[in-house]
Amino acid sequence: MTKLTVLGSGREVGRSCLQLDVEGRRVLLDCGIQAGQFGRSSLPLIHEKLASSIDAVLVTHAHLDHSAALPRLLRMGFKGRIFMTLPTMALANLLWQDELSLMEREWPPEERLWGSQEMSLTLSSTTATTYHEEFQFNGLRFNFHNAGHILGSAMIEVKTPGFRLVYTGDLGSKSNHLRYWRASDIAYPDVLILESTYGGVNRRSRGDLEREFVEKARAVLENGGKVLIPVFSVGKAQELLKLLKDRWRSLPKVKVILEGMAINALKIYEQFLIYMDEGVRRAFLFNAVNPFKWEDLAFPAALGERKRLVESREPAIILAPSGMLRGGWSLWYFLHLAQNPENMVVLVGFMAEGTIGHALLNGVKQFKVRDIISGEERDVDVKAQIYHFELSTHAMHSELCNFVAQMKPEKLVLVHGTLESALKLASSVEDHAGEIIIPENGAQLDLEHRKVETVIPVKVEIPIGDKIAVVLPRGFPLLVKFNGKEKFLKAEDLYSLLKQPRSKC
Ligand SMILES: [Zn+2]
Ligand SMILES: [Zn+2]
Repeated sequence: MTKLTVLGSGREVGRSCLQLDVEGRRVLLDCGIQAGQFGRSSLPLIHEKLASSIDAVLVTHAHLDHSAALPRLLRMGFKGRIFMTLPTMALANLLWQDELSLMEREWPPEERLWGSQEMSLTLSSTTATTYHEEFQFNGLRFNFHNAGHILGSAMIEVKTPGFRLVYTGDLGSKSNHLRYWRASDIAYPDVLILESTYGGVNRRSRGDLEREFVEKARAVLENGGKVLIPVFSVGKAQELLKLLKDRWRSLPKVKVILEGMAINALKIYEQFLIYMDEGVRRAFLFNAVNPFKWEDLAFPAALGERKRLVESREPAIILAPSGMLRGGWSLWYFLHLAQNPENMVVLVGFMAEGTIGHALLNGVKQFKVRDIISGEERDVDVKAQIYHFELSTHAMHSELCNFVAQMKPEKLVLVHGTLESALKLASSVEDHAGEIIIPENGAQLDLEHRKVETVIPVKVEIPIGDKIAVVLPRGFPLLVKFNGKEKFLKAEDLYSLLKQPRSKC
């Protein structure tokens, strides 16, 4: 029996975790947390008994909503193997370390989801994979394909005889440094599990968006203000750095500050330039051009330096994690910069409910924010401009539609999106999929499929007159009147009852 159980990301963005039971094996696709929630409520629906019965976990990419519940899974008794690409492994290690220090700093010990021991055990249970190299594990075949979302991100293909499933994880949008995804290698699957974050949402062209962002930033900087851009350390930070470098001539020459974990993530990106698109690779290999760095980019080393920066009248651009103002340096800068109307806070892409970023987009102006240095809680009355830069590392509605149109799956399962966005996407792609399902968390889907190799084309020919016969497949049920009584017979039983017809294969 082939079954899919939705343990997270059903009608919600985040907490990606899907349980696939196939050929007597149990596999998890991703194991992440919900960024908008804290503690146990951020976890997918996993219990101890389930954790110990899982053979393998396949991870699409390093973002916390796809990977950060893995050490918890080990704490709950998971003893199987984990697979992810090599850059995902490097980035996940970095992001988990950050999550661990957040838990150790801010949560009482009994509330912490996992510790450093489980984290190192998770890494030692992991096998690094690469793109387009099929491998086998316990009789199942897997393949990782580029998803173009962040460095190392992959779509996962699971194959058994007569069955093929593709899970996209987060599908990328056109990026300024990553290779775009390709559907041709994985088209026509039995099941496609697709993210739907931006179902129903399209944005203006990337060029228009970038120009508008640069114009807004220029106006603030020329007026002596600061531009604070909360970013995900992995993905958005690099996309923004490349954008600023490419358009640097259109902006006043100010300092660009990169903060916290984004600095370490940048080092990993620099190690894996081979995974970038052709332009970036060639520029690096032939002209030693680093796509993300230039002379005005700085990394603050001490708290004093940061304090001087926020107190000065010197214009600057600050890129700091976390991306949704959930914690980290972005929140510290927000505390010090958001009350000044000369400054601007640029929110980039999707903001999960429950985060300050989400509240800001909905017009909330008063916040209580804890200073990560002093530990004090302070009131923030937001007077800075708030600008939503719609740049996303996720495929938008039209890109998702285009992907499904090329994939043409038998069954399409939409996850990682609100019900509203999934419904909008479903109505646009119904001509390209046999069946569309938008499951809730906890839902169990029967993915039973025909086993191609066991189908034998045996037919039964039953005459119903001198020159006419009906030809039916073996096992076909018929309602037959026999000795004045109606009863159901299989075609072959009726055939032997009549005694004279011929059977043909
Ligand atoms: Zn995600
Ligand atoms: Zn992601």
